[in-house]
Amino acid sequence: MNKNGSKSRPERTPRNFIASHLLDVPPSGIREFFDIVSSRKDVISLGIGEPDFVTPWHIREAAMYALDCGATSYTSNRGLESLRNSLSAYVKEAFNVVYNSETEILVTVGVSEALDMAIRAVVNPGDEVLYHEPCYVCYAPLVQFAHGKAVAVGTTRDNGFRLTREMLEKKVTDRTKALLLNFPTNPTGAVVTREDLKGIADFAIEHDIVVITDEIYSELTFDGERLSIAALPGMKERTVFLHGFSKAWAMTGFRLGYACAPPDLIETMVKIHQYAIMCAPILSQKAAVEALHKHSRADVEEMRCAYEERRNFIWQGLNEIGLSCHKPSGAFYAFPYIGNFGMASRDFALKLLNEQNVACVPGTAFGPSGEGYLRCSFSTDLDDIKEAVRRIGLFVKKL
Ligand code: PMP
Repeated sequence: MNKNGSKSRPERTPRNFIASHLLDVPPSGIREFFDIVSSRKDVISLGIGEPDFVTPWHIREAAMYALDCGATSYTSNRGLESLRNSLSAYVKEAFNVVYNSETEILVTVGVSEALDMAIRAVVNPGDEVLYHEPCYVCYAPLVQFAHGKAVAVGTTRDNGFRLTREMLEKKVTDRTKALLLNFPTNPTGAVVTREDLKGIADFAIEHDIVVITDEIYSELTFDGERLSIAALPGMKERTVFLHGFSKAWAMTGFRLGYACAPPDLIETMVKIHQYAIMCAPILSQKAAVEALHKHSRADVEEMRCAYEERRNFIWQGLNEIGLSCHKPSGAFYAFPYIGNFGMASRDFALKLLNEQNVACVPGTAFGPSGEGYLRCSFSTDLDDIKEAVRRIGLFVKKL
């Protein structure tokens, strides 16, 4: 019996206040690594997944002008009507999918929030969600937060980190509810061919699965076709299309993204978003309207070309110093193989940091399938990339 005379239960400590399904969610491997990096000086970092460009001036100016005009209020939960209209036009032009700006678009706080809303909107407790791995760090944890089961489909360098229908068929069960896609992929830089994407679409239709596609790197495609699964026949009605301004427009700090999906799904996501978030920040929304103007395409293309030049250098450079690296076709990451040096990825990355002051992220930060790889971001100045590759060369020579 406790003080109140009711039946006793174990006394709660701060730790067991915590919801049990969150206890075994590990912290991000990138964060862990960067806590170490931030304690050191003179490090060349190929670690961060963030553009080194400042947001184009006219976009910043639009945010400042909006502030000057007193734009300091909430917006509609779904986002500014003008922004949703611009998004609808942009997605039609760039991806060839038509979304109704009143019922099929939700403006979010980055793709991060959009992913969370999309997963929460579709996952029932115990539902399985397939995703290709190595992948962006938040996919599996977000599924766990929604009481779902994240099921990884491992991809490898042998075939350029392809995801095929056959691979998915091996992992599908009666509980599979959703499939998460991300092409170009963080951290591998892989893109998908139209043929493979068609196979994946057929798989989703036949197994009655909803697809959540994270298109955040789409504009930063260097080789191959730019294509979203939402554009394939029969897919728009079972796809949640997610995109945002962080990468191609260099707007990470604006925290702006969006989701496009059939009305019922968007309505459900709005339900969560209105209670949890209310709306995306108005100044960021105003800036995004400017970012979608046709004259912004030149800024995006200029940055894409700079990344492509760096991609060509780092891919060639890493291969020349003996790190086998497949050619990243999009995003801004090289993902060389280091498994032949007899060291776990984390140990390799730590030793490289200690001996040569170069920070790269161990592949395992992106799931167990990332063991044997290192993620080297090329969203860094070309001269720094050149010096980093030189130092990595010295490092591997000694191994
Ligand atoms: N998806 C992927 C694949 C990412 O790499 C990132 C950021 N690194 C995000 C989503 C989150 O982006 P945002 O800034 O829009 O929240």
